[in-house]
Amino acid sequence: MAVIISAEKVNKYFDTLHVLKDISIDIHEGEVVCVIGPSGSGKSTFLRCINQLESTSSGVIRINDEIIGFRQQGNKLHPLKDKQIAKQRSKVGMVFQRFNLFPHKTVLENIIEGPVYVQKRPAAELKKEAMELLKKVGLAEKANSYPNELSGGQQQRVAIARTLAMRPQAILFDEPTSALDPELVGDVLAVMKELAQSGMTMIVVTHEIGFCREVADKVLFMESGAIVASDTPDNMLINPKHPRVREFISAVL
Ligand code: ADP
Ligand code: MG
Repeated sequence: MAVIISAEKVNKYFDTLHVLKDISIDIHEGEVVCVIGPSGSGKSTFLRCINQLESTSSGVIRINDEIIGFRQQGNKLHPLKDKQIAKQRSKVGMVFQRFNLFPHKTVLENIIEGPVYVQKRPAAELKKEAMELLKKVGLAEKANSYPNELSGGQQQRVAIARTLAMRPQAILFDEPTSALDPELVGDVLAVMKELAQSGMTMIVVTHEIGFCREVADKVLFMESGAIVASDTPDNMLINPKHPRVREFISAVL
């Protein structure tokens, strides 16, 4: 399978704080990679760099072989303009812990907003597509509701539909169920699992170990800005060899 996202020796500093340390990884088409690790280890920053909400300090990230955030000239990298970055960004979706839906727009309007204004696609076609997406996340009957009329789990499923409406090549999830009441987590994970099975390329930062075991092709463990272990879910989560991973797993289970 082709590599969709690749990171090569990516470093990120916030002033003097070294937050990502030589991160290198290839993520292939259709792969589901779960990322676990303690708070502050750089998981969100890694996703934010892939989605260019942060710029990298050194190293390169490529999406489909295209360097993101920079234009290469000889062996020099020049930063891209905001408009070009926005275009690149729309290729990768991101789902956050907080759903960030527009409160004054209906569910349907939230879903078509990006494709209409960013991709300039026709609204009528998009409405039809949005209804299909809402069916997919089990919320067809909520099309005309406002976000505050939905539970957190329903809002997160709308956020996933909104991301899908942009037709991304991969989706990054940053602790998508951490802000939800426990009884609402299952429905969101079920939608994510279905998405994974449909062949979507996904990077998922999560502490839902059951989901990782069932859905991930690969699990990464990050600590202090580095990927310190990477293995199959079984090797990583059932009987981890790496002592820090073992300690972490027993603490979150
Ligand atoms: P995680 O998602 O694994 O909890 P983060 O990527 O959010 O970790 O944070 C990694 C480190 O970077 C932490 O020490 C955090 O305080 C720091 N950090 C994150 N964002 C910023 C920022 N915008 N400015 C300064 N420091 C930041
Ligand atoms: Mg985080």
